[in-house]
Amino acid sequence: MITVEEALETILKEIRPLGLESVPISSALDRVLGEDISARGNNPPWDNSAMDGYALKSADTEGASPEKPARLKVIYDLPAGQTPKGALSRGEAVRIMTGAPVPDGADAIVMVERTEAADGSVLIKTAARLGDHIRRSGEDFHAGEIVIKKGSLVRPAEVSMLATCGVPFVFVHKRPRVAVISTGDELCDLNEAPPMGKITNSNGYALAALVAASGAQAVQLGIARDNRESLKEKLALAMSADCIVSSGGVSVGDYDFVKDVLKELGSSMKFWKVAIKPGKPLAFGVIGGKPAFGLPGNPISSMVVFEQFVRPSLLKMSGRTALFRRTFAARLTKDIRIKPGRMNFLRAEFKADAAGFTVTPLDGQGSGMISTMVRANSFIIAPQESEGFKAGEMVKVQPFDETVFAATEPSY
Ligand code: AMP
Ligand code: MG
Repeated sequence: MITVEEALETILKEIRPLGLESVPISSALDRVLGEDISARGNNPPWDNSAMDGYALKSADTEGASPEKPARLKVIYDLPAGQTPKGALSRGEAVRIMTGAPVPDGADAIVMVERTEAADGSVLIKTAARLGDHIRRSGEDFHAGEIVIKKGSLVRPAEVSMLATCGVPFVFVHKRPRVAVISTGDELCDLNEAPPMGKITNSNGYALAALVAASGAQAVQLGIARDNRESLKEKLALAMSADCIVSSGGVSVGDYDFVKDVLKELGSSMKFWKVAIKPGKPLAFGVIGGKPAFGLPGNPISSMVVFEQFVRPSLLKMSGRTALFRRTFAARLTKDIRIKPGRMNFLRAEFKADAAGFTVTPLDGQGSGMISTMVRANSFIIAPQESEGFKAGEMVKVQPFDETVFAATEPSY
């Protein structure tokens, strides 16, 4: 039996980021940039007004106040989107709107609220300082500057930057296409009501959802029966994907062929017992350059093993470098007893509130108990040698659900 850390290290050593593809920036969200983005021009491109008001020479407003305003001649109006009609001389002002280029000769803007229009002139009721309310060309970034680094995750802010720079398409790492195969003679699909002895192929749907939640694209190849031919047929279809994930058939039962068939097809196939609970049997290898994961069949085991081993692999293939879910220390609300020997992932309810983090282990930790998974938002991770914890102790928790940090009421 190998440890979770050993399995993870061996797997990730084999995984490389996929190649690049060009996508419209409107489709680039959550992808990883494969190129540095450098600015072709300054931003702002030219000095412009940050206010609706008057562009003027600050020296013309020296000592101005509401009681003793400075009177300036308004030479023209300058809405956003237009170019200045000429330079401004002493004693003159231009009525300017937010975003319009600052005319030559002006060195400050006075906001309209501090002025009073007066028949072709304007009364300025405040003394302007040099540069007031002028957004300088290049104050955001300069031409030639790298504004987004290769390897960055594209968030809405990066989309804004790409659009500001006038970039319509970008190179990003490809999204892994993942073939999902379910194995088992007992499985029915959703188009059948399972007769006695059969169950629905829930893993196919769960794993496809986990793939999607990892930012990758799943194709469900359906059910392979518990014989070599059926499994080989499905695996042949899977070879055009970037990654293969199967569930079931990796234990030591008489009908567990996955490891044999994967070994037959791949040179570097590994089959392990990993010291993880739920989980344990895991087949991993590289077939034709593609990582293949043979996950256990029990619904919770397959989800836990996917979360710990397949998700980081898919993130790495997508070009990401932060591959793991964060863990937090949380105060345990109930005693737990654990049989030592495997790293335990206990389904739990994690709460983040003003008082801090607490976590409650849920009743029903069997590896087929989907109802517990539905109620859980996190795993309590107990180290391999742990025999349990007492209420009040701090334990390591791995939330897998972003809503743990969401609130139903605004908290500002
Ligand atoms: P196996 O690893 O193939 O021996 O399966 C272990 C347990 O998981 C058995 O109870 C199977 O019926 C169940 N199981 C296997 N595959 C699936 C699946 N695709 N959906 C739901 N349960 C499954
Ligand atoms: Mg089976």
